[in-house]
Amino acid sequence: MRPVIIEKTASDLPVSPNWTDTPDARAAFSWGAEARALAGLPGDGLNLAFEAVDRHAQGPARQRAALRLLDRDGSSHDISFHELSNRTNRFAHVLQRLGVAPGARLFVLCERGLELYLGLLGGLKHGCVVCPLFSAFGPEPIATRMALGEGSVLVTSAALYQRKVESIRARLPLLQHVLLHGLRQGETLPPDTLDLHALLAEAEDSFTIAPTTADTPSLLHFTSGTTGTPKGALHVHGAAVTHYVTGKYALDLHPDDIYWCTADPGWVTGTSYGILAPLMLGVTSVVDSAEFDAERWYGILEHQHVSVWYTAPTAIRLLMKAGAALAAAHSFPALRFVASVGEPLNAEAVWWGKEVLGHPIHDNWWQTETGGIMIANTAVMTIKPGSMGKPLPGVDAAIVGRNATGQLVPLGNEQVGELALKKPWPALFRAYLGQEERYRRCFSGDWYLSGDLARRDADGYYWFVGRSDDVIKSAGHLIGPFEVESVLMELPEVAEAAVIGMPDPLLGETVKAFVTLKAGQVATTALHDELLGHARKRLGAAVAPKELAFVTDLPHTRSGKLMRRLLKARELGLPEGDLSTLENPV
Ligand code: ATP
Ligand code: MG
Repeated sequence: MRPVIIEKTASDLPVSPNWTDTPDARAAFSWGAEARALAGLPGDGLNLAFEAVDRHAQGPARQRAALRLLDRDGSSHDISFHELSNRTNRFAHVLQRLGVAPGARLFVLCERGLELYLGLLGGLKHGCVVCPLFSAFGPEPIATRMALGEGSVLVTSAALYQRKVESIRARLPLLQHVLLHGLRQGETLPPDTLDLHALLAEAEDSFTIAPTTADTPSLLHFTSGTTGTPKGALHVHGAAVTHYVTGKYALDLHPDDIYWCTADPGWVTGTSYGILAPLMLGVTSVVDSAEFDAERWYGILEHQHVSVWYTAPTAIRLLMKAGAALAAAHSFPALRFVASVGEPLNAEAVWWGKEVLGHPIHDNWWQTETGGIMIANTAVMTIKPGSMGKPLPGVDAAIVGRNATGQLVPLGNEQVGELALKKPWPALFRAYLGQEERYRRCFSGDWYLSGDLARRDADGYYWFVGRSDDVIKSAGHLIGPFEVESVLMELPEVAEAAVIGMPDPLLGETVKAFVTLKAGQVATTALHDELLGHARKRLGAAVAPKELAFVTDLPHTRSGKLMRRLLKARELGLPEGDLSTLENPV
């Protein structure tokens, strides 16, 4: 596979001025040393919520803002670590009073606001296994996840309950306690529900955290459903070590930062890095529940003085699509580090960050299953635009293939194979709920197999090629969709591109591209031909798309990933499969 070729050199990229640790971070720490430093509970106790909140609430940072909650009108309200500690204690106390057993599954279906934090962190303090869901989910995805996860407690708003849960309640016989917030003045509680704030008002500020250890189950996260039916990945409290270390080294978080993670906690990114890692590192998190809006987002970056921003390629592409004029109306002097995850980040997007935000975007790679960032362009590295970066210190990664007898073998530089990680690490998932065999198949010998294809270059940088399910095989070539899509995006008219393999009797498969255009651009035959010609020139005839269609929108998951499998199913007239995570039906 060819690397993405970019004419600009990366030598002018800055090294973060706030980086206080030695450049050779591998020598500077080990997972073990960080884990010992974290042990804040008696014995070998470890609890994610203690590490995130109480550790700071008991120290000199107690009055620092943990959360900056934004209202729709742009006003904001700060919650200190001390206050968050008291309030999450109260929530845990409510669970205790209700007789909820530690280990019970607690689902949180909330917009991004205080109750989400209380439910998640308070639930962890009580020893519950917490599962945050996208508040935008409809009744069906909620019902299937809660049934599979055997949820016995649900925290949600009165409005979401009435719209989405009431109709499925009869299908959830294990659901015992429904705690509602957001009741309007004088509104009567629906049957079989409880008023969360009334219960919190009667609860106590102090709480003795459940005796959880590094191996106690903590969070249940459903995967994005990009390649099929979402899987429920179970995590443990020991993941705290991964969150802490990766927040510090991959996101470069420091206590005086104002940090904004745009991911919803229904996606693992919104929990590991939207809630836990920033709190563990004592930074102030901006919390905004509004959907994407380019003007609002630029405004938040500017007016909230965001210094570290973690977002996703889909959002970056939408900002690029919104045009340069909107960006030019804002300035971002506080911003110093921008990172992205979830999908391959095209080289063009990295450079757009440098030009528009003043900072190139640091791509990093991980999965629901890994629980935390594994491969990254860190603050002290030269970014190779289009690459995911290098394995973080303490992460052993390899590109593997199978030999003639079917054994797993590590491959050399520049060879395409499956990205594998040597197990274990603290945030590695412990189960796919109800799918033991599927879980076992993720491992072979010492390795966790990611299901992603990638290659490593001679400098040790990893380059994403594709998910094994999305890779196109044409006339003996293995074609990664990302490589083709990146080339199509080099033309300034293009906003986004997605490619799939179409069956071909002669070649096996051929590449078909779907392209959306930026605001004000027109789909013409000339542009169509120019795009195909450009792709042929850059990629060669064997890899370039044979067909190209202009579309107004492309299907994405709620976590912002291109759902190529849906494009393909529609193109071939096949069943569309599980669409529970599809964002905007298009
Ligand atoms: P499902 O497993 O249900 O099909 P999913 O794999 O998209 O969904 P997630 O766990 O949210 O669910 O996403 C992890 C996947 O996202 C990775 O396996 C990889 O394919 C992709 N990914 C994440 N970060 C990057 C990145 N920086 N570059 C390329 N791909 C990435
Ligand atoms: Mg996956």
